[in-house]
Amino acid sequence: ALMITDDCINCDVCEPECPNDAIFMGPEIYVIDPNKCTECVGHYNEPQCKQVCPVNCIPFNPEWKESKAELQAKYERLQEEA
Ligand code: SF4
Ligand code: SF4
Repeated sequence: ALMITDDCINCDVCEPECPNDAIFMGPEIYVIDPNKCTECVGHYNEPQCKQVCPVNCIPFNPEWKESKAELQAKYERLQEEA
């Protein structure tokens, strides 16, 4: 999963780009729900939020390292829940 750092300027551009609705406004800045972020696996070749962020504050979350297979499985689980 990816994460948003406190460099976030709340510009709102990433939130609508997420195919998994994983991005939401937290108490102060935007937040990514790691249970919903597939790093865009299943939808796109590149993480869409990371591409559009103007201040480059969406790195990989070191607490949530996942393999491509794990991300694909998460994508499939989210599809079933949808
Ligand atoms: Fe959403 Fe993709 Fe960003 Fe994860 S990497 S938060 S799935 S846009
Ligand atoms: Fe924050 Fe970047 Fe998302 Fe803008 S695109 S709300 S700066 S994380």
